[in-house]
Amino acid sequence: MNSPVYRFAPSPNGHLHLGHAYSAILNDEAAKQTSGRFMLRIEDIDTIRCTPQLQEDMLEDLKWLGLHWETPVRRQSEHFSEYGKALGKLEAMGVVYKALLTRAQIKRFVAQQDASNAPWQRDPDGAPLYPGDNRILSEQEQQALQDSDASYALRLNMAKATRLAGPALSWNEAHHGKIQADPAAWGDVVLARKDTPTSYHLSVVVDDALQGITHVLRGKDLYHATSVHRLLQTLLDLPEPHYEHHDLILDKTGRKLAKSAKDTSLRELRTNGVTPEQIREKLAF
Ligand code: GLU
Repeated sequence: MNSPVYRFAPSPNGHLHLGHAYSAILNDEAAKQTSGRFMLRIEDIDTIRCTPQLQEDMLEDLKWLGLHWETPVRRQSEHFSEYGKALGKLEAMGVVYKALLTRAQIKRFVAQQDASNAPWQRDPDGAPLYPGDNRILSEQEQQALQDSDASYALRLNMAKATRLAGPALSWNEAHHGKIQADPAAWGDVVLARKDTPTSYHLSVVVDDALQGITHVLRGKDLYHATSVHRLLQTLLDLPEPHYEHHDLILDKTGRKLAKSAKDTSLRELRTNGVTPEQIREKLAF
């Protein structure tokens, strides 16, 4: 059997905190214990928020923690054309459409629905499902927008995509076994936008396959996203990795750590004299 391949895939849109340290160390340890490989992937498709400085700081923080990863490091912003190819495959299957509603239109529609006695359905992250252009725009309005320079998102036609993938969509979750995937809970997810040629869901499945990742070990906040990933892997004929979603490190009030929270940023802790050994101890390694 080939050796396991693990990865840590942060987005440099803020400074790393204790939760990232936990995830990165878990992956590194798992690779070591299984004589596997450990890769780092920089998920910087948001080229506005993911700045070169934040990226540099992130690498410095990870080195300070004592982590070693294989090189070259994959930076998603350097591979937009590869995600474009995957998107093209999905388009050829007829499961992608140009969605025209603005955020303000969606917000207004959802507020109206919520005010009625049938609140609008939310995805597992709490965001409203895409209502569909037809509910809000007339055919003429849609045509005019299609022909104009207006913004749009390329969305997955979830009903068609799940039909094509078939009902037996599942993943293997460590310590829990087979989990039934439920991608429909997300509605028509965004695959790309007019100004951003990919999305998190699309690039993560392309890269996990391309980098030969056999074990995706990441936080529980991404547990439900795995349903979308399994759907895209099935449509794109990509291999299925093993999944494990670890507990999140919470702050004193029980909330998930945020990149903006100074008290748990690795930089701040380091400036205050905390050592990498103390971080590992704090995280119970
Ligand atoms: N880039 C994602 C994040 O920073 C993690 C992606 C993943 O592990 O699948 O939350």
